[in-house]
Amino acid sequence: MSVDVELACRCGSIHGWARAVTPNAVNRVVCYCDDCQAFLHHIGRADLLDPHGGTDVVQLPPNAVAFDRGAEHIVGVRLTSRGMHRWYASCCQTPLGNTLAPLVAFIGMPVEVFCGAPDARRRDELFGDPRGAIHERFATGGPPEGLPRFGSGKLIHMLVRVVGWKLRGKAWPHPFFDRTTGAPSHPVTTLTPAERAALRPKCGPNPTVPGN
Ligand SMILES: [Zn+2]
Ligand SMILES: [Zn+2]
Repeated sequence: MSVDVELACRCGSIHGWARAVTPNAVNRVVCYCDDCQAFLHHIGRADLLDPHGGTDVVQLPPNAVAFDRGAEHIVGVRLTSRGMHRWYASCCQTPLGNTLAPLVAFIGMPVEVFCGAPDARRRDELFGDPRGAIHERFATGGPPEGLPRFGSGKLIHMLVRVVGWKLRGKAWPHPFFDRTTGAPSHPVTTLTPAERAALRPKCGPNPTVPGN
């Protein structure tokens, strides 16, 4: 049975819903890439990274996600001019979701934004177990024991699901992009090369800036 899962930023100003969630309706993965790490350092939320630098992400089709309160607080940042749009709450620095261009119909949302699934047991019930680690070459000290590598079979399965969302008309409406223009529907900034470079030493397998 599918479930509607409540979404909220940390301070509660932004509120919404992820509709019709089942483990088979989403992809779940732990991403260790240095861009995800850099993003959370940039917004001051490195506390959300697991001890190996990973982000536990649930991918959903865009039309499954809608915010009914506080959308005026949503902003986006790109690490480079061609990078993903990484959306977060300007009110309280809560990461909300990562997207490619809306042509690629998915939103990767960190599990922490699902306030309707506040603990590991509930998250596993709703989203399934994390199906594996990706970009684990950037993981600090290697990925955690027991989390399998995300093999090519699983990767294909994940891509097929995302393409299916597009084909079945789940790309719109989109909580972060305007359907008519295809442009972002919230303010977006892009880091300067110097800002991006300053984040780099904090990320990856051997961060030179401890903690933070
Ligand atoms: Zn907030
Ligand atoms: Zn990543």
